[in-house]
Amino acid sequence: MTVALLFAGCAGNHDSSSPSESNDAGASSAKAQRVRAMNQVTDHHSYARPAEARITHLNWNASVDFDSRTIQGVATYDIETAEDAQRIVFDTHDLTIHGVSVDGQSVEFNLGDAQPFIGSALTIPVTPGAKQVAIDYTSSPGANALLWVEAQGDRAPFLFTQSQAILARTWVPVQDSPGVRFSYDATVQVPEGLMAMMSAENPTEMSADGRYTFRMIQPIPAYLLALAVGQVEYRSVGDRCAVYATPDLIDKAAYEFAEMEQLLLAAEDLYGPYAWERYDLLILPAAFPFGGMENPRLTFATPTIIAGDRSLVSLVAHELAHSWSGNLVTNATWDDFWLNEGFTVYFEQRIMEAVYGRDVSEMLATLSYQGLVDEVDAISDLNPDDTHLKLHLQGRDPDDGMTAIAYDKGYFFLRLMENTVGRERFDAWLSNYFEEYAFKGMDTERFVVYLKETLLADEADLTAVRLDEWIYGPGLPDNCPQVSSARIERVDATLAGWEAGDIATADLPWNEWVYQERYRFLSNLADDTTPERMADLDAVWGIGSTGNNEVLFAWMEQAIRSRYAPTYGRLEAFLIEVGRRKFLTPLYRAMKETDQMDMALDIYGKARPGYHSVATGTMDALLDWPASEG
Ligand SMILES: [Zn+2]
Repeated sequence: MTVALLFAGCAGNHDSSSPSESNDAGASSAKAQRVRAMNQVTDHHSYARPAEARITHLNWNASVDFDSRTIQGVATYDIETAEDAQRIVFDTHDLTIHGVSVDGQSVEFNLGDAQPFIGSALTIPVTPGAKQVAIDYTSSPGANALLWVEAQGDRAPFLFTQSQAILARTWVPVQDSPGVRFSYDATVQVPEGLMAMMSAENPTEMSADGRYTFRMIQPIPAYLLALAVGQVEYRSVGDRCAVYATPDLIDKAAYEFAEMEQLLLAAEDLYGPYAWERYDLLILPAAFPFGGMENPRLTFATPTIIAGDRSLVSLVAHELAHSWSGNLVTNATWDDFWLNEGFTVYFEQRIMEAVYGRDVSEMLATLSYQGLVDEVDAISDLNPDDTHLKLHLQGRDPDDGMTAIAYDKGYFFLRLMENTVGRERFDAWLSNYFEEYAFKGMDTERFVVYLKETLLADEADLTAVRLDEWIYGPGLPDNCPQVSSARIERVDATLAGWEAGDIATADLPWNEWVYQERYRFLSNLADDTTPERMADLDAVWGIGSTGNNEVLFAWMEQAIRSRYAPTYGRLEAFLIEVGRRKFLTPLYRAMKETDQMDMALDIYGKARPGYHSVATGTMDALLDWPASEG
């Protein structure tokens, strides 16, 4: 689907050319060219034709029904139309459409056949000048964005959404392309005794009647639409920061994330003012498939980052950084995902360096480098094109592009540019980039033009960076910056000594190590480490009962490879409780690779009903789970 012309002569608000650009006759021709280029961006994962008619504001009126596992809603959109507009097209997936009206008049609509991943186009006839479209609909009980967590014991039921990449269309009919932005307000009815929260201005107290209203004045793309409903409490941890969590976790969460405001100040210090007023964090049930999701104003996070010692806050730094890279300057299509994630990992590292010191941030960088090299190897075997920064996801689930490439290859590319031009110039450039493209979309091609005109205008710098190899080429170019961490090197030496029998288990400096060092030790154990050696480590250092989920994960993965059975009980409990894909994939893969498929399938059969669709999508493929049982 091509987005070509864009509102010639219409001075409305659109993502891709700011009013100042489109109305300012004096804009530089280079800038005008970039704007024109953006108007021709094609998003293969959306049916919307925003050049013809696009949404600008959503008024959402919905009620959430846990019994039928559905959301009943009326989505009323303010729209803008081109001079010759005949229709407005929405993305939907498994929605039942009850009726549609345009400017208050009921109209005939067309709901196309469902295609894999992208769902059905909802086409509504409009005439030029039409102002408002209302769609009355119900979501399906199996809607891919939604996870309905059942009540258990004294735990109330919980609902959360995960809209990225193209799942918003399973709970709201919407122009579901990251290049289309809209503001919104909402009224949501939920069962009494539960709180509703969105990526918007949020309540701080339970309402008596289960009715909540929301307002989001900054325009966002559909993938940042979010809703959560549960029995949660609110606790302020700073002037602009608070945590939301269930009663059993609220104290722990408030302690764990007490430094959020400090991270926010550090981020603003680096790259300019925070644009979204508040930065709050919602702790979700463990079934949440990701570490975090940068829903504006309210990051959604997994409880697995609550370690009791604030050791896993880098995840918050990451989601916070998205408030600039991603939420403010947004990848125009999912092929440009690295523009969201690579920039965010870079920014995250800079926040970590500013708050916790370079020692810590370099350990993190070293660990990402290790992960990246492994991922490049794994992906190169399957589909080398997926190691390019610029992806080609047409006809595929955009979720396929969510690998370490966008994140860590992206990070090292930015780090290379920083090294090439110097930190001072790089930082000034990046602040400028966030300011110039705030609330707009950015695609790779236009970004390359921008880079060549700004940061890499100097021929020598451009040559040194080898831009095309990084962006349009496979693997990791050999000018990838080297990272080194003396602390990680000491861990590696200690591990070598232990494996050679020169260092006794009791002499390992386990208690002096921070979690990154423990993680490095465990994740680099030889595959053929014997169960006896594992038992020795466990007996001396109690590793199998650690409260840090990153350490536990590395331990369990090795336990599988070593067939260290005493950990299997905890492994099963973990996989049933936790739905975070970053942990699930390597653990199930380890079982598969070590011929323990019976155990994998047995655990997966029990755990699968509790997982979100983005996790089952990956695990079904990994374990050849029969689709019919879905
Ligand atoms: Zn991210």
